[in-house]
Amino acid sequence: MTPLDELIRAHIRQQGPIDVAAFMTLALAHPRHGYYMTRDPLGAAGDFTTAPEISQLFGEMIGLWLIDMWQQLGSPQPVMLAELGPGRGTLIKDILCAFAIRPTLCDTVQIHLVETSPVLRAAQKETLSGFAPVWHDSLESLAAHAPEVPLLLVANEFLDALPIHQYVGAGRQERVIVLAGDELRFAPEGTVREESPAREATVRTVAAMLVQRRGAALFIDYGHDGAGAGDTLQAVKDHAFHPVLEDVGEADVTSHVDFSALRRAAAGEDVSVFGPVAQGAFLAALGIGLRLTMLEQSAGPAQAQMLVQGVKRLIAEGDMGTLFKVMAFCHPASLKPAGF
Ligand code: SAH
Repeated sequence: MTPLDELIRAHIRQQGPIDVAAFMTLALAHPRHGYYMTRDPLGAAGDFTTAPEISQLFGEMIGLWLIDMWQQLGSPQPVMLAELGPGRGTLIKDILCAFAIRPTLCDTVQIHLVETSPVLRAAQKETLSGFAPVWHDSLESLAAHAPEVPLLLVANEFLDALPIHQYVGAGRQERVIVLAGDELRFAPEGTVREESPAREATVRTVAAMLVQRRGAALFIDYGHDGAGAGDTLQAVKDHAFHPVLEDVGEADVTSHVDFSALRRAAAGEDVSVFGPVAQGAFLAALGIGLRLTMLEQSAGPAQAQMLVQGVKRLIAEGDMGTLFKVMAFCHPASLKPAGF
């Protein structure tokens, strides 16, 4: 049993069943034993891999998208480049590589990272040596920083880690975790519906920041455009699915993002919403194929093969290319983001 397995059992014995949101918060963010607090989960030696870790072209394409947004904003100086949940810092590093084609942007960009994991903060610091990022514990802290500076924001596989609530049946009966003997179980049975006030609040805060400062935000995640997805809570350990209620704190726990709920969450703010579109279609529209051809020409055979395989994984139908979706929020309305 992991320390969290025991802690959750003791908690349920003393105070009764816990809901799925409380479970996710403990599993991922418990200060001592939470999954993200204790490890770097990414890459071959970890539990899962992400688009920026698969290919540098992912971050480069997003970098070009951001350059275009910056130019449509009138090339403001300074400008804030923010990332939520930056992992190892690979995406932001590749974005900054792409920014090299616009020296004024490179000189003026202020890098801000929202990250709660001390282990991943250390990794980000190493990846971004040579830059001077500012770290924030929360989105609220980012929002309070230099509120007049225009914002370019990205978040890849961030929202899926924020807690959800699950409801059973048509009403608001919450799906909870109970103890049956010494075993953790979900209850009651029935058709599951999911809601995530934490994700919606994130999008609302980002939208309000965009209205205040001007700018664009890009969210990329595993997800769907609408309800009816059922129970999407999942755990991953050693690159394979894992029972959600086992080895708590040692497996990543996420759920699919409901992009239609994000759109509704932003509806009260004066932002334009684009997407969701499939990641493969988005990257193709931004010219990932052309960029791949260019890089292949100057690469050796082994490196060329690696580049091709990486891009294939990012855009493959039935895999990351269609399972991952991209949604953008922009203000003012004159901004027309590429790829949608
Ligand atoms: N974006 C990265 C990493 C994705 S993993 C990539 O694509 O490779 C999720 C990231 O979000 C990790 O960096 C994790 O530490 C961070 N994270 C999870 N919950 C968070 C929270 N509530 N606040 C800030 N960061 C969080």
